[in-house]
Amino acid sequence: MSADANCLFCKIVRREIPSTIVFENDHALAFRDIHPAAKTHVLVIPKKHIIGIAHAEPADAPTMGELLLAARKVAEQEGLGDGGYRLVINNGADAGQSVLHLHVHVLGGRPLAWPPG
Ligand code: AMP
Repeated sequence: MSADANCLFCKIVRREIPSTIVFENDHALAFRDIHPAAKTHVLVIPKKHIIGIAHAEPADAPTMGELLLAARKVAEQEGLGDGGYRLVINNGADAGQSVLHLHVHVLGGRPLAWPPG
């Protein structure tokens, strides 16, 4: 499993940095965002170090599928299955990506405006 020694989220995968983990399988890890933007705000990441969606390779397709299914599982686990939720992937500077390890934000528990600001 490729990993980046200095990557914040790889360190969370390796339990070198504390986090509140809510889901884990062979491919993905989900933990609560440290600065929640909604009542429920969980980050779902591939265990493999992929910088962002723009860096995913065709060979990462199964991992990408697992990531989305993990995000759905987290949303359901958090009780958002009926009311609804939003999945967000920020990519690059203009989108505000601040951690260079691909992550899906799972947001819910309040009405979410569209389009986002
Ligand atoms: P993004 O702006 O899409 O790159 O999102 C990065 C997210 O990671 C932000 O919502 C941060 O609050 C969150 N974050 C940064 N460091 C941590 C951490 N140590 N544990 C949990 N979430 C974090």
